Amino acid sequence: MTETLERFLHGLDAEIRASGDWGRVADYIPELARIDPAQFGIAVVLPGNRLVTAGQADQRFSIQSVSKVFSLACLLGRIGEQVWTRVGREPSGRRFDSILTLEEEQGRPRNPFINAGALVVTDELVAGRRPKEALAEILAFLQAAAEDEDIHIDKAVARSEAETGFRNIALANYLKSFGNLKNAPELTLGTYFHQCAIEMSCVQLARAGRVIAGLPGAPAMLAPVKARRINALMMMCGHYDGSGDFAFRVGLPAKSGVGGGILLIAPGRASVAIWSPGLNGYGNSQMGSYAAERLARETNWSVF
Ligand code: GLU
Repeated sequence: MTETLERFLHGLDAEIRASGDWGRVADYIPELARIDPAQFGIAVVLPGNRLVTAGQADQRFSIQSVSKVFSLACLLGRIGEQVWTRVGREPSGRRFDSILTLEEEQGRPRNPFINAGALVVTDELVAGRRPKEALAEILAFLQAAAEDEDIHIDKAVARSEAETGFRNIALANYLKSFGNLKNAPELTLGTYFHQCAIEMSCVQLARAGRVIAGLPGAPAMLAPVKARRINALMMMCGHYDGSGDFAFRVGLPAKSGVGGGILLIAPGRASVAIWSPGLNGYGNSQMGSYAAERLARETNWSVF
């Protein structure tokens, strides 16, 4: 299995580099706009911690919204099912930063993976303590899940987003107006921007994803029932308004970020991290989505 997979991933890497169809990097966060889209890396962790990689699997990138999987895991650990009093669990069918459904639904975001929902999750993690402590909890979770201390926040990316994050600022204030934000908007926003600015490589992210995949050999940090909930949400809401298309093409739970990362979970079988910073029209990694589709077809890992 490992050798066949290795051969497949190297072929995929070569094919992607030859195609040149990279998509466009996110330009609304100036620090991300400077990144060369023509990059690709993939890491697959199999049961027993066997690792297979290709391309720039050790290159660190901004995990952005992939962090929302782990902030939700922290919060589920902290308050369990109470999470759902403040945020829903339905696909949004809208862009990641949309404000539309918030008005219709009286300030209760559709799910924890759109920006409004992630702000609520972060807000609850901050409640009653300092933002620094909430961030330390998310980082510590990632470090323990990856069994790697060398995971940090890129402060320049956090600053860059804070300076230009007008939509998120609007969302936080709107949530506050509905009484669904416990902290001052700037506290929750500052924490959220820093959480999104965590930098990881594909190898680190795939190792952290082992706890979501419930892989044999993974650190025992997340109750199986919680992992199941997170996987269901990743399947339905992990790619914003492109979630249906991603499930159709790939058939696996996954979460994307505007830094071009995708965490892809084959429950019980593999944890996969893919990175290619050029995005498609939905704001998901263009070549990352393609690689996920090819990998799922090759391995037959689709849950359907
Ligand atoms: N930090 C980004 C934002 O809030 C995350 C979006 C994403 O990765 O999809 O706009």
